[in-house]
Amino acid sequence: MEDSIHDQFTHVPERISGLVDLAYNLWWSWNPEAGALFKQVNRQAWKESIHNPVRMLREIPVGFLKQAAENPAYLRRYDIVMRRFRKYMSATGTWFSAEHPDSRSLTIAYFSAEYGLHHSLPIYAGGLGFLAGDHLKEASDLGLPMVAVGFMYSQGYLHQEISPDGWQKDINEPLDPDAAPITRVLDSAGDHLVVRVPHIDPPIYVAVWKVQVGRIPLYLLDTDIDCNDPRNRGISSRLYTGDLEQRLRQEIVLGIGGRKVLHVLGADYSAVHLNEGHPAFALLERIRERVERGMEFDEALDEVRATSVFTSHTPVPAGHDIFPINLIDRYFKAYYPALGIDRREFLQLGVHPQSPGAGFNMTAFALRASEHHNGVSRAHGTVTRQMWRCLWPGTPETTVPIDYVTNGVHVPTWLNHRMKDLYDRHIGPTCPNWLSEHDDPVVWELIDEIPDAELWYIHTWLKAKLFNRIREQERIRWAAQHPGGVPDPATGGAYLNPDVLTIGFARRFSTYKRAHLIFEDLERLKRILNNRWYPVQVIFAGKAHPADNEGKRLLQKIYRYTQQPEFGGRVAFVEDYSEKVAQYLVHGVDVWLNNPLPPMEASGTSGMKASLNGVLNLSILDGWWVEGYNGRNGWAFGSETAACDGRDATDAAAIYNLLEKEVVPLYYDRSVDNIPHGWVKMMKESIKSNGPRFSARRMVKEYVARYYPPLLNAADAEYARAVAAAKPQAPEWEPQAHGEAEEGSE
Ligand SMILES: *Cc1c(COP(=O)(O)O)cnc(C)c1O
Repeated sequence: MEDSIHDQFTHVPERISGLVDLAYNLWWSWNPEAGALFKQVNRQAWKESIHNPVRMLREIPVGFLKQAAENPAYLRRYDIVMRRFRKYMSATGTWFSAEHPDSRSLTIAYFSAEYGLHHSLPIYAGGLGFLAGDHLKEASDLGLPMVAVGFMYSQGYLHQEISPDGWQKDINEPLDPDAAPITRVLDSAGDHLVVRVPHIDPPIYVAVWKVQVGRIPLYLLDTDIDCNDPRNRGISSRLYTGDLEQRLRQEIVLGIGGRKVLHVLGADYSAVHLNEGHPAFALLERIRERVERGMEFDEALDEVRATSVFTSHTPVPAGHDIFPINLIDRYFKAYYPALGIDRREFLQLGVHPQSPGAGFNMTAFALRASEHHNGVSRAHGTVTRQMWRCLWPGTPETTVPIDYVTNGVHVPTWLNHRMKDLYDRHIGPTCPNWLSEHDDPVVWELIDEIPDAELWYIHTWLKAKLFNRIREQERIRWAAQHPGGVPDPATGGAYLNPDVLTIGFARRFSTYKRAHLIFEDLERLKRILNNRWYPVQVIFAGKAHPADNEGKRLLQKIYRYTQQPEFGGRVAFVEDYSEKVAQYLVHGVDVWLNNPLPPMEASGTSGMKASLNGVLNLSILDGWWVEGYNGRNGWAFGSETAACDGRDATDAAAIYNLLEKEVVPLYYDRSVDNIPHGWVKMMKESIKSNGPRFSARRMVKEYVARYYPPLLNAADAEYARAVAAAKPQAPEWEPQAHGEAEEGSE
């Protein structure tokens, strides 16, 4: 890869040409000193590139690069960071290699329909994507043998623009491959590698791109290439299309095509982790490969099961794909015989026992074809067992084989660097490597030693950054003057006041998340917001799915409230929620509000990001907060019982009560130093109780403790059997180091 990429950057002076490698490895994004290396070349160029190193290196005047290459102060920093980077990339003494010295070079293949890694690579829709992105970053930090597969989404990213009447418009942004940290994977002839999706007719081809996530390669599939017809070209253009047939074709490409791509790359994997049901066809393809090698279907299924883990992420019914039988027939006619089973047996694999005629259920299939399954929080584990116990008739609910691994967030990504510096100063002297031990709760006890004034000062600084960002976005919006009319300044947050207690609510506008809940009793809310002595303000952000008109109506309702003077300019809606906006919000508000309808929030992760930075959670007891809340680290309300009449009114009243009686008084209880010491105490409690437990490090280590080694062992045994039994087929099973074999671009 190095060579072909460096060819495009011959203008970068030799002395600092490592910047190109750094730009093409997202490692820089979670190591602030590496990001600083780009910024220090030239601040304006960094800003102009919107903090995107690839774009910056392409567009920056050569003179700036030359200056940096001759500046001793710059070069000192460059050499230190590059040495750390090379050491990280070549490290042999990782956590995983120390814990599992016996493990072979087999890999875990992680499949996900989306990845949230950085805003310069917009191939995500929301929480599921960030979870996958954080999983890869942490797996890299821990040194797991992993390779990942996803989609390129050439037209993928939807920007949100809101018309003056509050209606969301979905603006497409095509992905510019030259400005994203992706490289073409090349075939042996030096051309862009193209792979045909096996056994699907008419044929579908995918081109392969690569993203380097620290030590982990992520391969992205792209159908937008000349040899596909227009319909096939569109398969990978957008996330989660509403067109059911196109959606089926997406999942065929992701699962079956993705599996094939790994095979072609010599990244022949030994175990599979499915992130949600979208890529479940990968298991089908693994069965087919074994049948092709002469195995009986049942035996092949057993082997595949023994080496697969499936993580389910949502109790919302629409989150589980069900494809009509006629569509399955259309695409899998040729596939049934290749599996050595007939149509009836095939369809049986995807049957939901309670609605057998409904179609092929991807979750039911994934559960049948994997040995290990888990939900993403304790509460969600229980709900998932209830939802799917019908697949294990006669088994008591508590022994239904669905476990849980509670989600976590990648700490180096979501902990603001100023906050990290503060923790470094106070934890560092006692525990210099605290960041590499950050899943150990003992380390975090030292948070208590941070002087209140220092923590409060950094918090208010981050709050100021958020308000600057909001005003700047509002200024740009005002200057652009949407064709429909002048936007209301109150809406964009022009009147927000950094001294006022600020609540943040940002997530996708799915109806179950109940963004409108706080507006349940308008008069009471107005009294709370407009309190003369103790005012409160609320910032909303979030996108509705383009096809979700109900979500868009909800958004519109809130948007209209922001325009009403009775709310005093104290309710704002920040357009175009993204990774960037999320970073500002989870660092800079005072309170993070979360009020979904239980038990719909499988886990939720934005509240974890907030608590890492000292933002306090005010959340319903659902998802992760059932485990996170300890009575001293934020506020909880509501019960885990499901929806009932009047639920909205009860939950809203609980929020108002907490605000009036606890949250607001605590925030405004200042001593002469103007520091809310009680509040800061709660911030510390929140940071130290949630930081280690809801880290991606704790999460990935749990996947390792429970699933990955058994899967790898099963794969090892399987590999040994395959080699012994079928010499001629052995090359296919050679466990090569991932991403090398036919990858001419390496
Ligand atoms: C973390 C994150 C999410 C997921 O947040 P939830 O609380 O799980 O809804 C969605 N979008 C962005 C941009 C995020 O950073």
